[in-house]
Amino acid sequence: MPLSTPEWPGAHRSAAAFTFDVDAEAGAIAFDHTAVDRMSLMTHQQYGPTVAVPKLLAMLRCQDVQATFFVPGYTAELHPDIVKALIEDGHEIGHHGYLHENTRGMSEQDEADMIDRGLDALDAVAGVRPVGYRAPWWEYNWHTTKLLADRGFHYDSSLLDGDAPYLFAGEGMTDAQALVEIPIDWALDDWEQYAFYPGWTGSGVIESPNKALELWSLEAQASHAAGGCFVLTNHPFISGRPSRLTALETLIERVKGLDGVWITTLEQIAEHARTVTTDVHRHQRLPDPGPLPGQPGSTTAPPTAQERPDATDHQYVTTTGA
Ligand SMILES: [Zn+2]
Repeated sequence: MPLSTPEWPGAHRSAAAFTFDVDAEAGAIAFDHTAVDRMSLMTHQQYGPTVAVPKLLAMLRCQDVQATFFVPGYTAELHPDIVKALIEDGHEIGHHGYLHENTRGMSEQDEADMIDRGLDALDAVAGVRPVGYRAPWWEYNWHTTKLLADRGFHYDSSLLDGDAPYLFAGEGMTDAQALVEIPIDWALDDWEQYAFYPGWTGSGVIESPNKALELWSLEAQASHAAGGCFVLTNHPFISGRPSRLTALETLIERVKGLDGVWITTLEQIAEHARTVTTDVHRHQRLPDPGPLPGQPGSTTAPPTAQERPDATDHQYVTTTGA
């Protein structure tokens, strides 16, 4: 089941992984293809692979940490030397779409084509065949698991229902075909702390690295105490800025100071989880209850004030009307 805690190898009591999604230009272009006309925005995104990744590599080398980098195929084609540098330093390369596509509502065939195009790009650029997948925007579909299993992936890291890895199988799959899920959490993503670009993303609030460091340190400590798996998601174009990079290095030093934590790649965590886990979880697709009265698509008018139950009984909630 998703909430169980696996045994960790040797004397380790918990696991921690530092992961980086190299969205770069693709992250903005997938949102709006005319972003290519915005020179300043493109430089903001190019800061990731061209300026931040070399600094990140130096820091990770200094800290002796192996990380997992999820690289869209488009990023790999634009920045082949960066992908090769990641591999040279022993980091894991994972799949992150081709153009960081928004896969919400994407058909199975379109998603299959996207995954294949991403695989082809990583192979052509660096001869690498990833075993791990992370859906762009963590937008994973009910049919995605089977697509990944058919292509030989070992694990995914896009779902949000666990504190530790678990085995899972999708629709039409046997238990023997199960993948490992290594769950993530929006609170452990740097985008929500720092990201802002006018006309594209963010609220305009840019948090202090001290606040992010506190948030992530607390989660790392609690995850360690519970024997869980801490997975941080950073983006080089976001967390490669000087003060954020310093805070990230401080976090890594703190995590390394936790007694018995296993800091490694998601691939290593997935391979271990497969050896100590037997239960295969199957996520259940919920029936669509249809729109509430008054919502788009509803044929029923919203309730009047007289019909609406007392607000304290919580039996009827609508977002329309006061
Ligand atoms: Zn991404």
